[in-house]
Amino acid sequence: MLKIIVVGAAGRMGRHLVSCITRAADMTLCGAVEYSESPFLNQDAGAVAGISPVGVNITSDLAEIIENADAIIDFSTGNVIENAELAVKNGAAVVIGTTALSETETGKLQKMAAENGKIVLAPNMSVGVNLLFHLTEKVAALLNDYDIEIVEMHHRRKKDAPSGTAVRLGECAAAGKDLSYSDNVVHGRNGIVGERTDNEIGMHAVRGGDVVGDHTVIFATDGERVELTHKASSRDTFAMGALKAVRFLMNSNAGFYDMQDVLGLKN
Ligand code: NAD
Repeated sequence: MLKIIVVGAAGRMGRHLVSCITRAADMTLCGAVEYSESPFLNQDAGAVAGISPVGVNITSDLAEIIENADAIIDFSTGNVIENAELAVKNGAAVVIGTTALSETETGKLQKMAAENGKIVLAPNMSVGVNLLFHLTEKVAALLNDYDIEIVEMHHRRKKDAPSGTAVRLGECAAAGKDLSYSDNVVHGRNGIVGERTDNEIGMHAVRGGDVVGDHTVIFATDGERVELTHKASSRDTFAMGALKAVRFLMNSNAGFYDMQDVLGLKN
């Protein structure tokens, strides 16, 4: 049984992780961490996640529990780098889902990996979305004279646009056509913008309701179009991807990996 610690255990993703680990036949939750002022400290992580109690109370002291763990999964908005350092020092694998880490922070993680750490960092852990990244680059290269438009939809509370996933899709499409995201992506259209140019990649953000995340890449030409669509309906998809990343690290050498590595989608 793989012993897993969830950091950020009371967060939206943390609760899904606790629940998914409890259901996994090859894993057991051995620790749950939150920040030092969290109202959830000393509460059972299962109860906080809305499932049956799991006998693991939430603590703010990762150092105290890390010795036992095979891996930490960190989707916290706190001390991600310090947590990874502690885990690597204790021989535990590290899976990080937290987004918007700075280049400096990512560099620190790469350095830890070079010094014998096993680390997966991925801003989107969904298996389907990572397949969509892969397919988008391939199809953009194969249908290289088709017009490409990307449409994403998210719940009304999302603050940023386009989504990080849509940006990555734009990068994949650009890479497939030998273009660049910054030069070729056009965000929305308004007014007399003129005819579409061959090399532009349209990007459109739709907001409303409780949509977890929909992404479509459209490849259009005269007489037909091909659409690649992914729809997330539950945060479990990200949690299950994180569990796959843990299993991948158990059989890997030290290194810095992403979900394309985990899913064998490189090349
Ligand atoms: P959230 O705010 O619900 O959860 C974050 C949790 O981290 C909170 O419970 C918070 O108390 C906790 N936290 C803050 N500081 C901490 C510290 N020092 N130690 C321990 N815990 C601490 O947010 P969320 O929706 O769960 O998202 C969390 C992160 O995961 C975000 O960066 C989000 O963008 C990212 N995310 C990634 C994926 C993916 O597939 N990689 C999917 C969804 C969300």
